[in-house]
Amino acid sequence: MKTVEDFNFKGKKALIRVDFNVPLNDQLEVTDTTRIEAAKPTIIKVLEDGGSCILMSHLGRPKAKENEFSLRHILSKTAEILGVTVKFAEDCIGSAAEEAAQALQPGEILLLENLRYHDQEQQGDSNFAEQLATLGDVYVNDAFGTAHRAHASTAIIAKFFPENKCFGLLLASEIKNVRKVLEEGKSPVTAIIGGAKVSSKITVIENILAKIDHLIVGGGMAFTFIKAQGGNIGSSLVEEDKQELALEILEKAKAKNVRVHLPIDVITADSFSEFATTDSEPADAIPAGWMGLDAGEKTRQQFADIIAESKTILWNGPVGVFEMEPFAQGTIAIGNAIAKATENGAFSLVGGGDSVAAVKQFGFENNVSYVSTGGGAMLEMLEGKTLPGIQAILE
Ligand code: AMP
Repeated sequence: MKTVEDFNFKGKKALIRVDFNVPLNDQLEVTDTTRIEAAKPTIIKVLEDGGSCILMSHLGRPKAKENEFSLRHILSKTAEILGVTVKFAEDCIGSAAEEAAQALQPGEILLLENLRYHDQEQQGDSNFAEQLATLGDVYVNDAFGTAHRAHASTAIIAKFFPENKCFGLLLASEIKNVRKVLEEGKSPVTAIIGGAKVSSKITVIENILAKIDHLIVGGGMAFTFIKAQGGNIGSSLVEEDKQELALEILEKAKAKNVRVHLPIDVITADSFSEFATTDSEPADAIPAGWMGLDAGEKTRQQFADIIAESKTILWNGPVGVFEMEPFAQGTIAIGNAIAKATENGAFSLVGGGDSVAAVKQFGFENNVSYVSTGGGAMLEMLEGKTLPGIQAILE
């Protein structure tokens, strides 16, 4: 796996695909700088070698060239984070980009305007990719958030750099950390899969079954399993048409000696609201009109015990409606248990969807081994898919 560490960028222009798709507020100010900070190590490595950086990214989903999607809005924040002045090209291809790229000196950074101002980016257009490719000497992909897309700048462009292409440090560490769980995970390996729906996690569960010892199923999706086994789940979230599949997963897990843990008790509510009246009930005996919105106390203890014994932990999806304060305790308990296990030497990876938001919200970010930066991309890696952005560099 070639990374920027394998290149000396002295006198070279690194054309780096970053994921600067950051949230902006109404004043068009950056409200979360995580993604810019995540790209910093790669950029600094190139600059310290004596090279220059041409950064390309998308921002949002522009239909035309709307001002609100201009990467100009993130220019000053990027410069502040990197500690270097950042130049800007009004377009990512054509004379504006070419002239700015040509004038770039070692130690300098150029940010190109939103790639998605051109439809050809998402179409994976080869001519567009070739025009981008003329700007730099080495292609670096550090955009994990879009690595699951076969877009011009994330995958197609790589063919124009047969020898001079590599992974950025962020993308490389995302790959390494997934491998630490799925390929090199020390036993016992535990996966905690939560979230709203079984349907969005089925492929993940099927792919990881061969690699884990314990599967903890929490959150809304647990009720499809519980109902399929004959439990009464009241008006809890359920995917009626996925019950068969839930039973099949349980069979497959059994055949592979994976121990599956479902909630035993749940915090119930009489409506989907933080002001609802709440109670605690066995997970398979929820009265009509009530819904399970969080893991109950016994469940939290049981899940925590399994996590405490684990050497490798993967967490994807909250075990309750953590966005509402009365139903956040289960998710907090999981975070605490993982933090403790990590302190005791376990490797823990949090990634793929809302668990990352939960980890940040409750302050566990620095108490787990690795928090992934890409929701969809991480999910597809856990599903065992080869991501186009990764494949293009490996080819
Ligand atoms: P996902 O994006 O699939 O990881 O799902 C995350 C969402 O699942 C969060 O917004 C949670 O509020 C929601 N969720 C978790 N537990 C439940 C539950 N018991 N009932 C309904 N929604 C839930």
